[in-house]
Amino acid sequence: MIKIKNVSKIFGDKAALDNVSFDVKKGETLAVIGGSGSGKSTLLRLMIGLIKPTSGEIYMDGEPLSDKTEAEWDKLRLKMGMVFQYSALFDSMTVGENVAFGLREHTDLPNEEIEKIIKEKLELVGLPNVENLMPNELSGGMKKRVSLARAIAINPSIIFYDEPSSGLDPITTRKIDELIKDTQKALKVTSVVVTHDMLSATRIADRIAMLSEGKLVAVAPTEEFKKIEDERIKAFFAAFSSSEGASL
Ligand code: ADP
Ligand code: MG
Repeated sequence: MIKIKNVSKIFGDKAALDNVSFDVKKGETLAVIGGSGSGKSTLLRLMIGLIKPTSGEIYMDGEPLSDKTEAEWDKLRLKMGMVFQYSALFDSMTVGENVAFGLREHTDLPNEEIEKIIKEKLELVGLPNVENLMPNELSGGMKKRVSLARAIAINPSIIFYDEPSSGLDPITTRKIDELIKDTQKALKVTSVVVTHDMLSATRIADRIAMLSEGKLVAVAPTEEFKKIEDERIKAFFAAFSSSEGASL
């Protein structure tokens, strides 16, 4: 579904990504792991078109992103759901209006249809009857759920998550992991989950890709990935087996 080919992204004199190549397959959940500053968010921002590669190319359904016009990008973004690191809800809007945001921006659906979708998506993420609350009345885990409800409101074919469990305790993290898996099953979407949490990655992903200092260390199916003989991968696993949910 997505092909990343020899992509580099330079900021100033620093390569945030250095000649990275891999694919995201249709229908899979791919976790992109790596320590802080390894280039994960940069990769995500490239895939959703917020920034452009310094060199290399990204293909979506076989078409190079560099050729897309703004009008084509608008269309493409309707296929992409995005769950940001800090939920990024609008504090002055109700939960329901937050979920409806993309629909109001990008569609002409009648209000009653939008109300129906709000209810349906909030139920899907396990939060019935919260549409009239304000975001600041919700816990961190609930905000993440609302953020996911907003992402899936537009019926995307691919969902991008940036550190979906950052700032959450291990139990809430586990619940969000379950939710990501359930959403994938229910909607048959492709998911790209960026995380520094190895445990989360192994719980949710069909395949794992690891970045270190902007370089791709490895990409492999989850069970195979765990067995790869590489110091950087071993170090990552070691950090997590000693304390669940520890941050790197
Ligand atoms: P991660 O998400 O894995 O923590 P990032 O992709 O955010 O890593 O960052 C990778 C590297 O690129 C870091 O060294 C970061 O400081 C740098 N970087 C990211 N975005 C910018 C930017 N807009 N301007 C300058 N440097 C950036
Ligand atoms: Mg990041």
